[in-house]
Amino acid sequence: MSQSLPGTSVAGVTRYGLFIGNQQIAPVDGEYLDVVNPATGKVWAQVPNASVKDVDMAVESARSAFEEGDWLGYRAADRAKFLIRFGEAIADNAEEIAQLQVNENGKLIREMVGQAKLMPEYFNYYAGLAQMPTGSTNPLHVKQMLNYTVREPLGVVAAITPWNSPLLLLVWKLGPALAAGNTVIAKPSEVTPVSAIRFAELAAEAGLPPGVFNVVTGLGSPSGSALTGHPGVDKIAFTGSTATGQAIASQAGKTLKRVSLELGGKSPNIVFSDADLTSAINGLVAGIFGASGQTCMAGSRILVQDTMYDQVVEEFVRRAEAIKVGDPQNPASEMGTVACRPQFEKVLSYIDIAKSDGARLVAGGTRAEVDGFPDGLFVRPTVFADVTNDMRIAQEEVFGPIASLIRFHDEDEAVRIANETQFGLAAGIWTGNVQRAHRVASRLRAGTVWINNYRKTSYATPFGGYKQSGLGRENGADALREYTEEKSVWVDT
Ligand code: NAD
Repeated sequence: MSQSLPGTSVAGVTRYGLFIGNQQIAPVDGEYLDVVNPATGKVWAQVPNASVKDVDMAVESARSAFEEGDWLGYRAADRAKFLIRFGEAIADNAEEIAQLQVNENGKLIREMVGQAKLMPEYFNYYAGLAQMPTGSTNPLHVKQMLNYTVREPLGVVAAITPWNSPLLLLVWKLGPALAAGNTVIAKPSEVTPVSAIRFAELAAEAGLPPGVFNVVTGLGSPSGSALTGHPGVDKIAFTGSTATGQAIASQAGKTLKRVSLELGGKSPNIVFSDADLTSAINGLVAGIFGASGQTCMAGSRILVQDTMYDQVVEEFVRRAEAIKVGDPQNPASEMGTVACRPQFEKVLSYIDIAKSDGARLVAGGTRAEVDGFPDGLFVRPTVFADVTNDMRIAQEEVFGPIASLIRFHDEDEAVRIANETQFGLAAGIWTGNVQRAHRVASRLRAGTVWINNYRKTSYATPFGGYKQSGLGRENGADALREYTEEKSVWVDT
């Protein structure tokens, strides 16, 4: 494709620019990446593969907005008003931003519209918190002194996000970051970059001063690593795989940037024999097959007490086989595609790995054929029984629609298996015994535990991982602390 300005379309492919200083601009080196629709296999957009020079420009824009632009004059109440206006702009354009994400990652349109409608709630919550008192005055052991603390914004935040819920996971960062007065450079996944550009345009239309929210698109390297190594970036808020999180943490260590990491999982969803079977099965199915299994919190290890194991396997398989895999645009579809070809190949490769490790394939196990989509990256809901916790399918994050059913004998064994993993993001417990529910919840090494439900999150509730599932928490009131520094001020009275 010949060089063209951002916003132009050639043969149905729209070319986008970097979003810096409230406008789309072409990358310095003129290098672009294709954005592919995973349902059709067709390229529908191109975005810059930002170079170090482009990232320098974005950092300069964000730094000057933080240090000398209009944003500096925004009081907490002004920031709160902006967040509310931004939320309204999102609500007004919910269908469009949902559609863009479906074109990028093949998730169901109804799920993406649902997420878009939820985003204003996050901004309203942080608009409220922006105006709450912060800091403290401290009783002292010395006379004639007053000491108080204030919380101040960190500066420039790099928000690096994955492809599975492109905008919702950005909102989790933008809400507290902007409420606290920081400026932001988003680096969306190279699989899902367009929705982030449109999102930043909406923020500008809602009145955000130039340079406060910028978007650089491109690959993890050079674009992402140019940000994480940049001396002008004060904090990295990252969601993605554990491997990338580890690389980012070590790079950030060189300049001691603040880092929060939301990483991978291999979450246990534990069914005790005293559980309500109907609700448990509903929770198991939604826990692993929602979003084609591409959620960090996917309940990918299903632990079932031996007395009801065969019954659960039978019912779970029946439900998995009934899931309608289809066109993500069709409201009747229950599962869309996997987001991109490398992920599709990874998912299929784990089916072979599980088989050769001795797991018993009881449902799915292949690409799903969907009429009218010969090149679509669809995978059948796949179930393995007789999985043991030492198998790779039980230890490694697949991030696809593959469930592993593991047998346990008693509560101690369930807890041991659940905790025997490098991850600690989430866990589910299904039981009719209230004492057991709390007892097991307290023994699980996971950042979120759901009792007789699964996959619930809220702007008001902290979310994050134990162990190698992350560092820090998103959402909830304390998330603001992740975007501020505390200053102690001494006054001689
Ligand atoms: P990924 O780690 O491959 O990429 C995430 C982002 O990091 C992308 O924007 C990518 O371009 C960027 N990146 C890659 N290498 C980089 C580098 N060296 N420096 C800076 N940036 C770099 O993850 P993915 O495949 O896009 O997403 C799937 C992963 O995300 C899964 O492991 C999943 O569990 C995790 N995830 C976690 C949560 C959570 O809240 N804990 C939520 C959603 C997804």
